[in-house]
Amino acid sequence: MTIDEFFDKQLTEWPLARDNYAALARVRTKTLMVDGLPYRVQSNAARILSTAAKTDARSISERPCFLCRTNRPPEQRYIDHVLDSYDILVNPYPIFPRHLTIALTEHHPQALSDERFADMLTLAQMLPHFILFYNDAQSGASAPDHLHFQAGSRNILPVEQAIYRSRFEPHARFIDTDCREEAVARFAQLFRNLQITQERVDPMLNLLCWYHDGQWTVSLFPRKKYRPDCYYASGKAQLLCSPAAVEMAGLFVLPREEDFERITATDIYHIIQEVS
Ligand SMILES: [Zn+2]
Repeated sequence: MTIDEFFDKQLTEWPLARDNYAALARVRTKTLMVDGLPYRVQSNAARILSTAAKTDARSISERPCFLCRTNRPPEQRYIDHVLDSYDILVNPYPIFPRHLTIALTEHHPQALSDERFADMLTLAQMLPHFILFYNDAQSGASAPDHLHFQAGSRNILPVEQAIYRSRFEPHARFIDTDCREEAVARFAQLFRNLQITQERVDPMLNLLCWYHDGQWTVSLFPRKKYRPDCYYASGKAQLLCSPAAVEMAGLFVLPREEDFERITATDIYHIIQEVS
């Protein structure tokens, strides 16, 4: 079964997914120029579950893991044995016209290693119409207890466009190569450096990867903060925005319409500065 067939099957059988993908096609979007970069902003009410997810250890331990097979909705199908270890799922709360979650079959904490990064490269190669992304447990993953990647339709995120590369470079490290070993070696070096500078085994980061014309591009955004102060503010000062890979890559997803109306280029600039 192809990914398109898998998608169509899910949207036929699963009303929640069908409704949310139909709603995504109608969401409001706008573009704000932030320091020479055209940031996309998306008003997406279905994302409130992820944006406002409680990811502290206690909340996580008290809820059933929604990525484990036994707890998934009965309508949610999966493609199993991907790289022997992963299930491909349709994400029922989409940001992209095609949005997948790729979950490890076993319940295992969200943590990166050279092997998992190599899996990400392979997945990007297997899914050339998608950009793969990973949020570490402290930088936007709403299931920090279950290892997963996500994949979204290509050519939506500004980070993919070479002309904007220099605008991302203050906050991101890029790897471009046609050689898998080189990609893994360079990632390993960046990862070790982050482990040292952040003094964490699992450094805070967002990672994106795509494969085009025989070449991988990887963009790694080191993070220093999970959510910006405006997330916790009250009244008009509050902007409910929880930056993850997609936001760092140039697309701000705001579940509340009033935030969508109100957010300015200056807000985005400051949020990126604050969490990078
Ligand atoms: Zn799980």
